Amino acid sequence: MAHSTHIAPLDLTPTGHLPAIVAQAPKPAREQLAGPCPVFRDCTDGTPGHFDHFSRAEVTDTDGTPLLDIGMVALSGDDHNAVVFVRGAEFTDAASLKAKTAELRRLLDAADALADRVFTDHQARG
Ligand SMILES: [Zn+2]
Repeated sequence: MAHSTHIAPLDLTPTGHLPAIVAQAPKPAREQLAGPCPVFRDCTDGTPGHFDHFSRAEVTDTDGTPLLDIGMVALSGDDHNAVVFVRGAEFTDAASLKAKTAELRRLLDAADALADRVFTDHQARG
């Protein structure tokens, strides 16, 4: 569903008025999204006319078990609330989600530092 980006040339004839650019009002923002869904750019449902929006991404363990997943859900019958989830935690605003992802980053950094210490100590043990 690619939308045309054709832009009509401005009428620059000297009329004493500003060019009539109002007649070329941009399309509504939802029609300018590049993904398969015309409502949420991150929705992965490409079905025309769908009302329930969804996406999900994950990091898996070596055996394919999900370790951490993130995504978004926006259901048509749910007061049009959009939710972004990180595993089981659901967020309805960016600030609260970013507070939690900052916490996760600190934990992952701690895991890196923990691994450095543990494997250094393990090697030193012989
Ligand atoms: Zn969608």
